[in-house]
Parts: sequence; C-alpha cells; structure tokens
Amino acid sequence: MTENTSNTAPTTNAALYDAARAVIPGGVNSPVRAFGSVGGSPVSMVKAAGPYLTDAEGREYVDLVCSWGPMLLGHNHPAVVDAVHRAVDAGLSFGTSTPDELRLAELIASKVPVDRVRMVSTGTEATMTAIRLARGASGRNLVVKFAGCYHGHSDGLLAAAGSGVATQSLPGSAGVTEAQAAETLVLPYNDRSALEETFAARGQEIAAVITEAAPCNMGVVTPEEGFNQFLRDLTERHGALLIWDEVLTGFRASAAGYWGLSGKVEGWTPDLWTFGKVIGGGMPTAAVAGRAEVMDLLAPLGPVYQAGTLSGNPVAMAAGLATLQNATEEVYGTLSRRSQQLEELLVGALTEAGVDHSIQRAGTLFSVAFGTSAGGVHNYADAQAQDTFRYAPFFHAMLEHGVYLPPSVFEAWFVSSAHDDAAMERIAAALPYAARVAAVATA
Ligand SMILES: *Cc1c(COP(=O)(O)O)cnc(C)c1O
Repeated sequence: MTENTSNTAPTTNAALYDAARAVIPGGVNSPVRAFGSVGGSPVSMVKAAGPYLTDAEGREYVDLVCSWGPMLLGHNHPAVVDAVHRAVDAGLSFGTSTPDELRLAELIASKVPVDRVRMVSTGTEATMTAIRLARGASGRNLVVKFAGCYHGHSDGLLAAAGSGVATQSLPGSAGVTEAQAAETLVLPYNDRSALEETFAARGQEIAAVITEAAPCNMGVVTPEEGFNQFLRDLTERHGALLIWDEVLTGFRASAAGYWGLSGKVEGWTPDLWTFGKVIGGGMPTAAVAGRAEVMDLLAPLGPVYQAGTLSGNPVAMAAGLATLQNATEEVYGTLSRRSQQLEELLVGALTEAGVDHSIQRAGTLFSVAFGTSAGGVHNYADAQAQDTFRYAPFFHAMLEHGVYLPPSVFEAWFVSSAHDDAAMERIAAALPYAARVAAVATA
C-alpha cells in the first residue's frame, strides 16, 4: 500500500512524475510516455481541445501526437463529445449486442473491402487474433514480420531480429519464450530477396506475413513501389495469409487508410486487416476484419476462440462512429494540407539551420530522420543508423516553445483537422530555434 497523499496532491509535472513512479512502474502506463529516449520529466496533461493540450501546470501545447493517432478530428470535437455524452446517459456497458457496434462494423466495411468485422479493445488484441486466425485457417505455425514494425505487445510479435537476414529470432522482451520467438521470422523491411529466400526454404510452414500497411513505428518508412503488392502475390503463391496492420494508418493515411494509396490503386486486397486508434476516436476500440471464409472461423461459428468482456463497448462505439461519420473528404483534405504545410515548415527550418535530414511519408503521415539525406530510410537498420542524438534537444526546444512532438524520433507526427492557422503559426515560430539547437547537438 502507498500512503494516501490526497492532502498534498502534487500539481507540477515533475512532482506528479515523482509520485507516479512510487505507484506505477516507471511512472507511466505505456513506455514511450516516459521520455526515455528524449530525457527529462514527462508532462502530465489535464485537458485537451482542438489542436491543443494543457498540462498540469496550465501550459498549453500544440499537439502533434494526437493520442498517437486517434484524434483525427482534434480533441473534444463537439459531435464526438455529444455522441459520447448520449451513450453514457444510456448506460456504460451492457455485455450484449448493441445497435452501434453493428453501425460501426457496417461503416468500416463500407470504406474498405472487408466482409466481417470483430471488435476488440486494443490493437494488440486485434493483431494477436489475426495471427491466431491465420494459424487456424492455414494449419501452419510460422509468422513472418519485419524488423522495426510494431504490432502491439503480444508475445510472438515482440520477437526481434538478430543481425542480417534472420531466419531464426531472438525474443525481443524478457518473458517471451524462445519457442514463441522461434515461430516468428523477422526480416528486413522492403527486402524482396530476403522474403523470396525465406519462402523458398520454409514456405510450407508459414501461416502469414504480418506487415504495417506503411511502417510508422520506426519513424515512417515508405513502402517501396510495388512492395506491398509483392507481399500479396508471394503469400498467395505459397498459401499463406497476408495480415495488413492498419491500426495506426487506418482511416488516417487516407480515407481508406494506407490501403487506399496501395491495394486500392493496384487492385488487390489482404486476407486480414487490423484497425485501432482512429476507429475508437479516443476510446479503447480496435478490430480485426477480413474475408468471410477466414473471419467465420472465429467463435461462435468456428474453432478459433476469441472473446472480450468490453468488446464493442457502447461508449467506445459511439466515439468511433461519430469520428468516422465526421471524417469527410474535407477532413482528409485538411489533414493532407496541414501535414504538407508542417513538412514544409520543418524542412525549411532544418535546411536554414544546416541540419542534414530526410522526410519519410505515408499519406498524411510523415516523420523526420537526421543525417539520412544521402540514402533515406528504407528499413529498421537505416532508421537506427541516423543521428538520433539530434532529436532530444530538438524535441525539448519545441516543448519549451509550446509544441508537443512525439517523444521519440522513431514515431510519426500526427496532425488533426482541427490544426488551424493559429496552431501552425505557433509551430512555425518554434521551429527555427529548435532547428538551430539540433544543428549544434553532439552525439
Ligand atoms: C498502436 C499499434 C498497435 C497496437 O495497438 P494498441 O491499441 O496500442 O495495443 C498495433 N499495430 C500498430 C501498427 C500500431 O501502431
């Protein structure tokens, strides 16, 4: 038990972090929030509106994290807040089917070519279920993933590569068994010959390839022209499933997610999809979706078990529905324009300060990498080889000037349709100083 400190409740960011560390591991409920890669004390937020966050000390920031993606329409969008209020008044959870989960599933199926949608609460559950389904459908055990792609924190998906083309894997976390890691083959992203070789050697054992539609968790890495279609063809040829993880990019990279820029244009569809982030509009909701023949293997119809007490929670469904219903063409136009504008401001400031960099883009998402202008970033090795030391001082300079960036260089920058001229001006005012700080940073 910890002492009750309510009489002297901390109010500064630093004091809140100190108090949190006494009762929450590392003071945070998700590791990247701890500022581990940028140093300093994390900021505790108490309020959000439109493009802004307000911390416990009353300081306001332009938010370029947007809760890691969900806040497509900005914070506290009136239509979303109204829908949530109405849902709360009607009851927090019923433990039964509800009309809104049906409407959200139908809405998702109207935007991307999926026959069935099963709601879960987190992206981690969605990818975990997709893998189980792929194994159940194929009767095979192995899963291919790419180094640097993040698919949530289930055991098998935390396997990371050894160096080079790994056909054996090491556990990426304590507590993941070697047996689990051995069933995950980790390959370099964008590397067709590594895939060809792996499938030539073990194709009969491979249940699925899981990929981020466009990687956004090692910074953004743009899939090379035709790479996703190559994945589709290769898996089909070998009787493996393609699991298309759009937890981050879904209904954000474009109106039809990254698939809208890739499979839709090239004329192919994956077998299974995972969604999260935007489809919950800020509430805990995610989904696994796909072709009927595969999805109908799920319980209660089929032998692949999956369940969730709060799956399709009515308040979360209301937030997700209101968000997707309001995600109009105009919203995507604004997202696209603001993210282009942000990139131009960033590139202008870095160029002016003489900071070598490259920008990687995936639809309305992008990230910056330092010292990479010669070759760009095509995989995890490239991402790791950049001048990461320039990011921490850059991040803190922006924070000081009221701009909240992702606290790691290995993350995408997120805008919302609420990012207006005033918000952009604040970013524009902060960038030149931050760029100069990044220029003089040393390893
Ligand atoms: C965020 C994310 C996940 C995990 O979702 P959680 O809701 O955090 O469990 C899975 N895949 C991708 C691509 C993600 O960005």
